[in-house]
Amino acid sequence: MSFNIAIDGPAGAGKSTIAKQLAKDLGVVYVDTGAMYRAMAYYFITNSIGEKDIVKIIDACKHVDVTITYENGVQNVWLNGENVSGKIRTEEVGNMASATSVYPVVRNKLVELQQQLAKTTDVIMDGRDIGTVVLPHADVKIYMTASSAIRAKRRFDELTAKGIECDLDDIEKDIIDRDYRDMNRETSPLKKADDAVELDTSNLDIDGVVDAIKEIVAKAQR
Ligand code: C5P
Repeated sequence: MSFNIAIDGPAGAGKSTIAKQLAKDLGVVYVDTGAMYRAMAYYFITNSIGEKDIVKIIDACKHVDVTITYENGVQNVWLNGENVSGKIRTEEVGNMASATSVYPVVRNKLVELQQQLAKTTDVIMDGRDIGTVVLPHADVKIYMTASSAIRAKRRFDELTAKGIECDLDDIEKDIIDRDYRDMNRETSPLKKADDAVELDTSNLDIDGVVDAIKEIVAKAQR
């Protein structure tokens, strides 16, 4: 049986930074499920499929191929044979992913892929519905939060460091909109699983959060 850690929470709570570090320290595979929704969103954008064009979205889900590979522990996402990992990190793709992840046809396709990965491999998987829907029997479940102001500031710093001009208020507004959509959609909304441990990272540094989760993992392994 594989050992699975589920991390859920809103955009910018620090899930991927923490999960990457933990995966390295614990020797497990990090699965970034947001990247799969982003790959589908990238397909919709590049094929001029609108976020409300449900007929084309259903059709795309039938024939679009999303796969995940690992190279030195780093996840690569492939869309119909093309490595799109470097193309899916924009705000445009993130917003399209949020808008199209509401459709069960999109979710079912990707959840199946996620469950297959976790069945055979020790994973730390992050997303919005991992502890509630994808891996309801995960050994450890974490629900990570932080205030919208702190999350916006982190995103602002990340973009500014890359030389991308942006506005802090616009970013916070985007984050609040995305939270609302993710938490209020009908299928698999973002919410804390009853048995998840909640960690507010607003005032914690990365090492502090990593250590806190390692303690929870150690207890679960006892
Ligand atoms: O985490 P990330 O920002 O890459 O996710 C992009 C979008 O994909 C989220 O806003 C969310 O709507 C969707 N998503 C989801 N379920 C997941 C992971 C991501 O609905 N497990």
